[in-house]
Amino acid sequence: MSADATKRAVIVVLNDYPTAPLVASLARARPRSRAPSRALRLAREAWRLLHVDSARAIALADQALGLAAHDEEAACWARLARGYHLLYFATPSAATHELQQAQRRFDALGDRGGRILACAGLARAQWRAGRFRDALAQVLPLRDEGLDVLRNEQRSVLLNTIAGCYSALGESEQAFAYMYEALRDAPPTRGHGFDAVLHCNLANELMMLGDYVEALRHIDDGLARCHGLRNPRLVSILLINRIVCLTELARADEALPDIERVRAQPTDASGRGSIGTHFETLAIAALRAGATDLGRALVAAALQVERPPIPDEYLELALAQALLAAADDAPAAARAHLAAAAPLVGALDADDANAAPPADGLSLRLRCMYFQVLSELCERSGEHTDALAAIRAWQQLQVQRAQLASRARYQAAALQTELLRLKHKLVEQDAKRRATERARTELETLNHQLSRQIEQVQALEAALREMAVRDELTGLFNRRHLNAVLPGTLALARRNRESLAVVIIDLDDFKGVNDAHGHLAGDQLLAAFGALLAASGRSSDVACRYGGEEFCLLMPRTAAEPAARKVRTILRRWREMSFTLNDKCVTRLTFSAGVSDSQRTGSSATELLTAADDLALAAKRLGRNRVLTGPTAVDWSASA
Ligand code: GH3
Ligand code: MG
Ligand code: MG
Repeated sequence: MSADATKRAVIVVLNDYPTAPLVASLARARPRSRAPSRALRLAREAWRLLHVDSARAIALADQALGLAAHDEEAACWARLARGYHLLYFATPSAATHELQQAQRRFDALGDRGGRILACAGLARAQWRAGRFRDALAQVLPLRDEGLDVLRNEQRSVLLNTIAGCYSALGESEQAFAYMYEALRDAPPTRGHGFDAVLHCNLANELMMLGDYVEALRHIDDGLARCHGLRNPRLVSILLINRIVCLTELARADEALPDIERVRAQPTDASGRGSIGTHFETLAIAALRAGATDLGRALVAAALQVERPPIPDEYLELALAQALLAAADDAPAAARAHLAAAAPLVGALDADDANAAPPADGLSLRLRCMYFQVLSELCERSGEHTDALAAIRAWQQLQVQRAQLASRARYQAAALQTELLRLKHKLVEQDAKRRATERARTELETLNHQLSRQIEQVQALEAALREMAVRDELTGLFNRRHLNAVLPGTLALARRNRESLAVVIIDLDDFKGVNDAHGHLAGDQLLAAFGALLAASGRSSDVACRYGGEEFCLLMPRTAAEPAARKVRTILRRWREMSFTLNDKCVTRLTFSAGVSDSQRTGSSATELLTAADDLALAAKRLGRNRVLTGPTAVDWSASA
């Protein structure tokens, strides 16, 4: 196996940018009523600039964190940006510390998108520490929710993290599928530099399969995309990948200018960072190009670097040391370097089931290179049998690569189809959810309209009921209502052994009023008398217009005498009222009334009414302007 493609560390840490789509998803989760704070704006900008301008990104993240004492959301984004920056420029544990804080805070805020991005960063930190399987186990369960919640570059970051894990585990077909999908989600217009990262990672995966020509195409696309970005680290990684491709294509001499460009970059956060310096990769290229002194300097530099436990890094360093020894004409030393790395590479015989496997995460490209260099050294020292065995091992690995490449094409297509199906499903679900929401809103509107209509109908019915029992001119109840309520009121009074007084009032000489002032003026007086009656009674009294200029009062729990006293008061007030009718003052109007009650008259409503009516008539006969009560026909006018 082994043989190709850059070391894992050359794969750029996938990443993403919050920006518009993420903000949209945030807005969906928690509608914002206030404008974002300055701290939050700075933190988001830091996140957006991670690949566009790495130095400014970290400066803004630090500034945002300083301002975010009372702004939890801003603190989350600042920590997230810092965490991703540390993935590129510091140790995995430093990045983990920051990302865990971001994850916890996003969790507390209920921000699903932010939490997924923090988790993806944590998985990447595990990846950087060489724990590829743990990283995949952490990030893969986030996939479906991530596709639902994240958009564009954010989604692309997640997919690319999954791709990186598969790549490290040698599962190129899965890695390709996720990378192409990620590239679709982060086109140059919305990529914020992340598309350059994806070109770099795709190139790396193609190198794994031995397709260096296609890999060079992606590298050049990535480098072109880096124009206008201030991301020297990304440029360096792309250049290192190009150096590897040219070396593998036996064009190492063409790589010399790139080696110089990479070396010119400072190994701190202002340049390509201290992680993954790849001096050993550059050394191999220099030595293959015949630049032994440069190769020696690069091997020396590589030996100075403290490296994470990534097998590719160790094997590549051993290969560089072996090639340098060979260039120095020290074949034994060269073989010794290879022998030291042999346990990483595994046994030669891949057909032997008991043969030792290669180290977990060791790339196929470097395993190939190991056997290639081994066969060259054996050949030079005349050990033809060993050289042949090494070539056979190299050949077996090449067959593996070819099979992997072929599987990758088909399986990548299958996985892409699955991802597309998932995306369509999510879109459909989204559409259904929206349709349901729309239907619910429409239903609510309809319900609202319906209840308004019901209220209107009820109000109309109430008005109609009112109209059916009211007299239009006076606003008092009408005779129909009197006929309807009198029997019940009477029965109730009897049951309670109480008196119900019934009064009939007839306005005196009303025809004369009409004749003197006109019918309209007469109407005015009738309305005024209605108002007087309504205002004078108790709320339990029922005042009705009996007909024409006649009125009837029902006075529950009242005997005839007190009722008559009350009517007398009304008569006095009526007499005292004055009206201006057609410019003439009209006053001293009178009425005649009869008062009966249920305890002194016959048992039926009609008898009660007739009794009162008779008394009113009697009052007329006695000269009007009086109130009579019966059956003894007491004349109350004396006190009027
Ligand atoms: P009395 O003192 O004997 O009751 O004399 P009166 O004129 O009041 O009695 P009469 O029964 O002779 O006439 C009643 C008058 O009331 C005649 C009628 O035009 C008038 N009237 C009845 N209903 C209305 C009405 O709605 N509006 C007006 N303006 N007049 C009405
Ligand atoms: Mg009358
Ligand atoms: Mg009258």
